[in-house]
Amino acid sequence: MTDKVKKSDAEWRKELTPAQYHIMREKGTEPAFTGQYWDDHTAGTYVCAGCGAPLFDSNTKFDSGTGWPSFFKPMDDKAVATGSDHSHFMTRTEALCAKCDAHLGHVFPDGPDPTGLRYCMNSASLKLVPKK
Ligand code: FE
Repeated sequence: MTDKVKKSDAEWRKELTPAQYHIMREKGTEPAFTGQYWDDHTAGTYVCAGCGAPLFDSNTKFDSGTGWPSFFKPMDDKAVATGSDHSHFMTRTEALCAKCDAHLGHVFPDGPDPTGLRYCMNSASLKLVPKK
């Protein structure tokens, strides 16, 4: 049911900041403790900074101590896609926006209950829409 958002490289470059473009389209990572959301506790919905798709609810956010915003589960199973990332001599699970294929971060198996997962996200890939 997900309608894919497809844009050219030039379009993404125009719409995203250079940092967002690097992270979301070139699979970069923002330095820890520098992003906008790692220490934000505002209630709301985190949507994709590229296409606006709802990705995470703030009530699944937890303090991971990593300096990146961390969640134990996505809004729904289809919002966040995963893939294998073999860069940097590691095998990690990459998390992507299912709608626009933006790189969001990685998923690690050391999160809290109830899922045991840690979705380690880049703030730059997210936009917080506060609850009204
Ligand atoms: Fe997206």
